[in-house]
Amino acid sequence: MDAVEKTRIVVENVSKFFTSNLGRVQALKEVSFCAEEGEFVAILGPSGCGKSTLLNMIAGLETHDQGIIDVSVENVNQPERHRMMMFQESALFPWYNVIQNVMYGLRFKKGLKRADYTDVALYYLSLVSLKKYAYSRIYQLSGGMKQRVALARALAPNPQILLMDEPFSALDAVTCEQLYKDVQRIWRSQHKTILLVTHNIREAVVLAQKIIVLSPHPGRVIREIKVDLPYPRNLHDTAVSDLTYQITAILNQKSL
Ligand code: ADP
Ligand code: MG
Repeated sequence: MDAVEKTRIVVENVSKFFTSNLGRVQALKEVSFCAEEGEFVAILGPSGCGKSTLLNMIAGLETHDQGIIDVSVENVNQPERHRMMMFQESALFPWYNVIQNVMYGLRFKKGLKRADYTDVALYYLSLVSLKKYAYSRIYQLSGGMKQRVALARALAPNPQILLMDEPFSALDAVTCEQLYKDVQRIWRSQHKTILLVTHNIREAVVLAQKIIVLSPHPGRVIREIKVDLPYPRNLHDTAVSDLTYQITAILNQKSL
């Protein structure tokens, strides 16, 4: 089993610059926030405000120029299995079938016998309601099903932290609505710390306990909003609509 340790993500005064043929651009400016163990945090902001850059830095896939990023007790300098990423594109391997894709995530897991891989993968496939597609090919799946497989693959090594970069943004509205329900159920039963990057205000409100609102380029934290609504939440709840409206107003004001 994994050692149980308190997970805490701390981002303090983090700035990031990129140098390209257009010169030096600031992607993020003095960003600070934290995520406690088991918390569901959304990082919300318009396209180009630095959300992916921020998530990549927390994943250890990108360096930062100023400030501190601290995940649990160690500095983030290498992506490790206690942090798993999910992207907008499911990034599944088409030459593997569904269960082989999920088992691929298990290569990070120490102390697991080859024979156990199938059981663990099937457990996570049933968690995302895809057990009966375990031996299907990837091309046979819809976009929503592919994202479910990607979710099962990310969960399979039992990471403490799940980092999600706009995983629903390429999906249709009906599929999204179903996945929002599933992600709430899975987060509540699996006790993960989740950091979700999104530009979709209603999605952030329906899923997160805390929303970090970023300004347009360069990304700065303009508001930290606690979403004190009971789970499970529905996209069409009046309280969800009200808060969505309020955050829309904040973002419109800031982009003038
Ligand atoms: P978001 O995910 O919010 O859409 P990104 O984090 O992808 O935003 O990008 C933030 C800003 O940093 C953008 O202006 C983008 O052009 C710039 N940027 C991101 N990655 C690089 C890079 N590798 N080189 C140069 N500029 C980059
Ligand atoms: Mg992005």
